[in-house]
Amino acid sequence: QAKETGKNGVCFYTPDINDRLVHYQEITNLLRDALNNDGLELHFQPQIHLAERTSNSCEALIRCFHGQSRAVSPAVFIPVAEKSGLINRIGEWVIEAACKQLSAWQKTPLNNFRVDINLSGRQLTNPHLANHILETVKRYNLQPHQLGVELTENEVFGSDESQTKQLEKLKQAGVHISIDDFGTGYSSLVYLRKLPVSGIKIDRSFLQHAMQNNADMAIMEAMITVGHSLGLSVLVEGVETEEQAQLVTKLGCDLAQGFLYAKPMPAQKMAEFLESF
Ligand code: C2E
Ligand code: MG
Ligand code: MG
Ligand code: MG
Repeated sequence: QAKETGKNGVCFYTPDINDRLVHYQEITNLLRDALNNDGLELHFQPQIHLAERTSNSCEALIRCFHGQSRAVSPAVFIPVAEKSGLINRIGEWVIEAACKQLSAWQKTPLNNFRVDINLSGRQLTNPHLANHILETVKRYNLQPHQLGVELTENEVFGSDESQTKQLEKLKQAGVHISIDDFGTGYSSLVYLRKLPVSGIKIDRSFLQHAMQNNADMAIMEAMITVGHSLGLSVLVEGVETEEQAQLVTKLGCDLAQGFLYAKPMPAQKMAEFLESF
């Protein structure tokens, strides 16, 4: 990668670049190790239906506790995995783990619950992705509507025809498709109308700013209106306070997700949480 050539043609790394390379290599090794040794886990965060105060779905978020219980954030290791290509194996692990969990819930009150997994844009370039997901769903005796996928705007809007086809196939089968971190990417309302999308998740930065700033509040209101006029479900991410919950309810949001309700947690914990919610 970033290599610099010295005066006499000798290649050297600046300490900073060196650090980053070590970091990159370390994380790649850690992830490969975790994949091979059961070191990955899915945590689940409920998505709350504001009007009914119920939860019918959750987001699955990957955790890596491998090696000295040192937790590395997915915000750090997912981009590394995307670069190294490991995201394909990790992505497959996530699909499998989510279906396995759903299958374990089939004989519990959570038998109609939906799990939304995060997909990376790189996974979408796999022409077998949709088939693979649907086959896994079937193998676990699940219905496609029990599974959802989240992709960011840039991953979806930058996609070519064959990638859109993957999404269309999933949507047609009944898989719920959400645009993640909505509002932070190249939002094109035209694409939003054309793409096979079921819902948007408004990025939590808008909510944070909307509390102090009228312009951000107006933007959020507009996103909710557009979402609804296109027949999409609208969720706001990152609800942390009662005040924020009141605001998003007033603005007409359908769903909310955030620390106010629950942090991401292991499956068993979330099941217990939902029992008393
Ligand atoms: P994301 O998909 O936008 O997930 C939401 C992130 O916000 C999660 O961080 C979640 O823990 C955090 N969050 C939820 N509620 C609140 C809140 O009220 N306040 C604050 N401050 N944060 C909140 P997490 O779990 O660290 O994941 C970070 C990102 O890593 C995710 O952002 C997603 O882009 C990526 N990621 C996580 N799991 C996977 C995965 O299985 N596959 C892929 N491709 N990416 C993943
Ligand atoms: Mg997400
Ligand atoms: Mg998100
Ligand atoms: Mg986000």
